[in-house]
Amino acid sequence: MRIALIAHDGKKPEMVQFITQNKNTLQQVELIATGTTGGHIENTGFNVVKLLSGPKGGDAQIAAMVAEGKLHGVFFFRDPLDKHPHEPDIQMLMRLCDVYNVPLATNPKTASLILEALVH
Ligand code: PGA
Repeated sequence: MRIALIAHDGKKPEMVQFITQNKNTLQQVELIATGTTGGHIENTGFNVVKLLSGPKGGDAQIAAMVAEGKLHGVFFFRDPLDKHPHEPDIQMLMRLCDVYNVPLATNPKTASLILEALVH
């Protein structure tokens, strides 16, 4: 089971909280993350494969993994109250999740529900 984790700056605390609250379940999952999000995840004690930072192409790398069938889920905690220079990459990632029918959570509650369904 391989899941990608991405959190915009305003959502990184929620991502850390999500990781901490779902520690046991996430230990059964291979984690991939954009660069800065990955750093925060590492600080919680998890092993994570860190890609480029989101605005520098990390979202695009995760989108490519979706297209290549390498991910079982994407947990993408977007900040709807902020502007993002890499908005086209964000749209591409979400679009490809829909093209390839890959579960996509954009908030922690949905991510918890998807995680339970994927792991159990
Ligand atoms: P980051 O990227 O984890 O490197 O901050 C997230 C994003 O903005 O897509």
